[in-house]
Amino acid sequence: MSASKKVLIVGGGIAGLTLAVALRRRDVEVEIVELQPQWDILGVGISLTGPTLRALQSIGLIDRCVAVAFGFNRIVFADVAGREVGALGMPPLCGPDHPATVAIGRPALHDVLLRAAQELGASIALGTTVTALAQRADAVDVTFTGGRRETYDFVVGCDGIRSAVRDMIFDEVPDPHFTGLAVWRVSMPRLAEVDCMQMFYGPKVKAGVNPHSRDEMFLFVVEPIQPGRRLPPDAMHQVLRDQLGDFSGDVMEYARAQITDPAGVDYRPMNSFLLPRPWNRGRAVVIGDAAHTTTPHLATGAGIAIEDAVVLAELIASGLPVPELFEQFMARRFDRCRLVVETAVKLGEMEKDTTIPIQTHFELMTATFRKLAAPI
Ligand SMILES: Cc1cc2nc3c(=O)[nH]c(=O)nc-3n(C[C@H](O)[C@H](O)[C@H](O)COP(=O)(O)OP(=O)(O)OC[C@H]3O[C@@H](n4cnc5c(N)ncnc54)[C@H](O)[C@@H]3O)c2cc1C
Repeated sequence: MSASKKVLIVGGGIAGLTLAVALRRRDVEVEIVELQPQWDILGVGISLTGPTLRALQSIGLIDRCVAVAFGFNRIVFADVAGREVGALGMPPLCGPDHPATVAIGRPALHDVLLRAAQELGASIALGTTVTALAQRADAVDVTFTGGRRETYDFVVGCDGIRSAVRDMIFDEVPDPHFTGLAVWRVSMPRLAEVDCMQMFYGPKVKAGVNPHSRDEMFLFVVEPIQPGRRLPPDAMHQVLRDQLGDFSGDVMEYARAQITDPAGVDYRPMNSFLLPRPWNRGRAVVIGDAAHTTTPHLATGAGIAIEDAVVLAELIASGLPVPELFEQFMARRFDRCRLVVETAVKLGEMEKDTTIPIQTHFELMTATFRKLAAPI
């Protein structure tokens, strides 16, 4: 039944490429259009927790990801002097042969997803997007940049927080919420003793390190900021080093000394967004950051994008009538994604109040990871 279906995926990021793999595994015809004329993937790492690895396992990609990542089973919480105050055991959801969590370079994850999508026969057009969508009862007519027209059974917007597809299918969309936080990240050679994610709570900022391959780790710093803040591009490394002035201990002293090049510093003010349900209108739907954008406090934004893709592919291939398909999709996705988005905002708010004990952060994260271990 699924063999005759044809799906257009708008956006070739983590959600779009995963959806392409998941649909091709179920014999659904797939086209991806990606706005960028060539792939331009930021070179910083990302964590994939147990539920994300479980979703990747369901589409046959866990081993490829683990092979190019760094696996670990716990997250260490430490104080400003680098003293461990607790360790969160990450739920192992993929069996004894796989780590509970990995960190992976974004380019490495992109390579795994892109290669799999191509091997499975997804067609990919770079430098292309959609200019119009017209819905009929049984199909969607799409016009592309350049004027080409085509008809699809479903159109899926995987085009990120500023989604154009979302604007095409909904009359009103709430604005993303600025969290008042920014995140800084820098890749650097891995210290041998950094064998899992470690977080250090300081009086002004939270810092952390995460090993994303055998040889590399990345530093991250979460900082409260005012809206519209401007920074000197040539002195980004200096501003970041200054953030770390309060920290001591081998790991943070090493990390601070590695920040020497402004070009290697990635800085992002952080937004949060949750599209009210449903995420579809007729046969067009948005998933991933286009439907929910979360701060990295639970290291799960890409994770819920990957899960969306796996669940949507299963339902599209099931042949369910459209209303039931999307009712089931929202029943399986909305509350879970809301839990991630809202808890991440809460953790960020807690970080702004440095009188809150580290133990309170630890307990909220432990309880949330436990909830997220539930099957999707
Ligand atoms: C600092 C930071 C750290 C993070 N750390 C983690 C982590 O540790 N773990 C985790 O799980 N998540 C993490 N995340 C979240 C994660 O990066 C995102 O949730 C994830 O990238 C979302 O994927 P996506 O495919 O939905 O969107 P995107 O990654 O934004 O991809 C959208 C794609 O669509 C393309 N596009 C945009 N507009 C159009 C258009 N009109 N037409 C065609 N194509 C278009 C874009 O070029 C892009 O390729 C982090 C995020 C940030 C900012």
